[in-house]
Amino acid sequence: MTTDPISPGSTIGILGGGQLGRMLAMAAAQLGYRCHIYAPERDSVAAEVAADFTCAPYGDSELLAKFAGACDVITYEFENVPVAPLSFIGATPLRASVRALEIAQDRLAEKRFVEHQGGTPAPFRAVENETEFTEALERIGTPGILKTRRDGYDGKGQWRIMSPRDAEDLTLSGNRLIYEGFVDFAAEFSVILVRGLDGEVRFWDSAQNDHSSGILSRSVVPAGAEVTAQVPAARELAARVAEALGYVGVLTLEFFATANGPVFNEMAPRVHNSGHWTIEGARTSQFENHIRAICGLPLGLTDLIVPAVQMDNLIGDQANDWPDLLADPANHLHLYGKGEINPGRKMGHVTRLLTGKTV
Ligand code: AMP
Repeated sequence: MTTDPISPGSTIGILGGGQLGRMLAMAAAQLGYRCHIYAPERDSVAAEVAADFTCAPYGDSELLAKFAGACDVITYEFENVPVAPLSFIGATPLRASVRALEIAQDRLAEKRFVEHQGGTPAPFRAVENETEFTEALERIGTPGILKTRRDGYDGKGQWRIMSPRDAEDLTLSGNRLIYEGFVDFAAEFSVILVRGLDGEVRFWDSAQNDHSSGILSRSVVPAGAEVTAQVPAARELAARVAEALGYVGVLTLEFFATANGPVFNEMAPRVHNSGHWTIEGARTSQFENHIRAICGLPLGLTDLIVPAVQMDNLIGDQANDWPDLLADPANHLHLYGKGEINPGRKMGHVTRLLTGKTV
C-alpha cells in the first residue's frame, strides 16, 4: 500500500451522491482537491458542488473502472454501496476500508465483529423464519426490535415488538433479519474518530444524540454526565475496531449509555450526521479530516472551540423554517439543496455555538 500523500490538485472520487458527499466535496475543495461523484441518482446534491459526475448504477463495471481511472483516491459517503463491483476499481486506493463496508452493511456481521473486539451489543439473534423468530423471542423476550440485516437506515426496516402479540401479526416473508432486545438507556451518544494513513487516531468530543422516529434530531456537545463517564470505554472500543480494520478516515460508532456501561448500537464507516457540528464547533471538521486522512495528509486538531454546540436536523418541512432560522444571526444554516421535501427526508441542519453547557 502506498503511503505517499495525494497532493492538492488531485482528484478524489466519492461513491454516493447525498449530503455527506456534498459536505466532503466542499471540504476537499477548500484544500484544493477536485471531486468526482459517482452515484446512481441524477439529482445528486453532491454532484452540484463537485467538478465531475458519473451518473451510473454502482454495479456498472465499465463505468466504475473508467471513474477509478480518473481518480487518485476513492472514498464513499454511503455505506450501502455494493461491495462486489468495487473490484473493478483496480489500483486506485479505496479508503476508508472495504472490509468496514462489508461489515457495516450487515447488522449481524457488525454486532459479531464488535463483540469480537470486546464490545457489548444489545442481546441479538439472527432470524430468517418463524421458528427462529419464536426462539429469539423466547431467548431475548420483549420488548425488542426486529430489524432487517441490510439496507435499513434512519429507523427504516424496523419493527418494535412490545409484546409477543405484536410478533403474531408480522409476516417475515423470507427476509434476513435480526431480533434485538430493547436497551434501557439513559442517553444515546456517538464516538467519532479519524484514523490517518500512518495509524494516528484523533477523537472529536462525543455528542449526545436525540432521535425521533428513529431519525437523529439533535446532537449536543458536551454530552451529559452519564455519557461522559462512558466515553473512555467507548473510545477504546472504537479505536480497536479502527485498528482491526486498518481503517483510514472517519469512523463512527453509536452507543447507548446504560447502567451497565456503553452498549454498542451500530457503526458507520464514514462521516456521520452526529458530527455535523464539527464544521463550526471543532478546530477541524469531520469532513476536512476525512479528506486529510484519505489523502495521507497530517490530521487537524479535533478540539471543541467553544463551551458547547447544538446541531438540529431539518427534517421534511422543517426546512421551510429557513427564513426564521436565518433571522437569528447566531445560527449556522446548512441546506442540502434537495428539491423535493418528503417527510423524514434530511433537508439540512442548523448549528449553534453556545456559551454554556446545555445538557
Ligand atoms: P438504528 O437504525 O439501529 O440506529 O436505530 C435507530 C434508533 O432506534 C436508535 O438510535 C435508537 O434510538 C432506537 N433503537 C434502535 N435499536 C434499539 C434497541 N435495541 N434498544 C433501544 N432503542 C433502539
